[in-house]
Amino acid sequence: MKVRCWGARGSVPVSGPEYLSYGGDTSCLEIRSKDDDILILDAGTGIRALGCELAARQRSDVTLLFSHYHWDHIQGLPFFKLLYNPKARLALGGIGGGGENLLRVLSRALRPPFFPVPLDKVPSTLSVLSYTEETLRVGSLLVRRVAASHPNKGAGFRVEEDGRSLVYLTDNELSLRHRGGLSFADYAAFCKGADLLIHDAEYTPEEYPQRRGWGHSHFADAARLAREAGVGALGLFHHNQERTDEAQDLLLARCRGLLSRPGDPDCLALHQGWARDFSA
Ligand SMILES: [Zn+2]
Ligand SMILES: [Zn+2]
Repeated sequence: MKVRCWGARGSVPVSGPEYLSYGGDTSCLEIRSKDDDILILDAGTGIRALGCELAARQRSDVTLLFSHYHWDHIQGLPFFKLLYNPKARLALGGIGGGGENLLRVLSRALRPPFFPVPLDKVPSTLSVLSYTEETLRVGSLLVRRVAASHPNKGAGFRVEEDGRSLVYLTDNELSLRHRGGLSFADYAAFCKGADLLIHDAEYTPEEYPQRRGWGHSHFADAARLAREAGVGALGLFHHNQERTDEAQDLLLARCRGLLSRPGDPDCLALHQGWARDFSA
């Protein structure tokens, strides 16, 4: 499997010379199976550019799973080209737990006066996936879902193929258990031994107390989870909108400082355009 990041920013897209290294688009990851099935995690503004590439390559079948429906995870969807291709088929997956219908939730945002084209009028074919005991298959990819600790609920995903695995757990507050969320030990068990853990590391430990309850983690908690779960590498994600490249580099360096014992996971910060091939 191959993974590529199309947006690593949290909360709201940003632009400007101070954000060039990490990028300004919000959450979107593309995962390709060995047979070239396409799994997309989140439809933040990063999905716009992904849609352009898929359209250029005449791809029309994708699976799109949402971690939750906060703006920064759905805002790119109206600008995702495949939505307007009558030949395209989008299999969509929701977050579970709340019993809310995914299409109904998205339709509240994709309709006038917020957007001219209502979701039920787009020319592509949309279907909603149902999980079997919190798992789903996308070609040769096995996807496991876990409830996130976040206001209004959320989900994280573990994606596996041929013994390799990555976990995408963003918008997850490890120091506070929101309604529907799990304990630190539960998250460590879910992430156990993954090759890569992509986790919310929006704050520094100094910033966190002022923002406790907002649904995000500081990097020291993400590092603690990565170590506890024995993952191969930790990928910091959901970069705060005020975090310039320089400040993000500093945050990454501090997190690497925490993970410097022998046997500790590697540490990186995802940026737009970042990619890794797990089959290599
Ligand atoms: Zn978010
Ligand atoms: Zn959120």
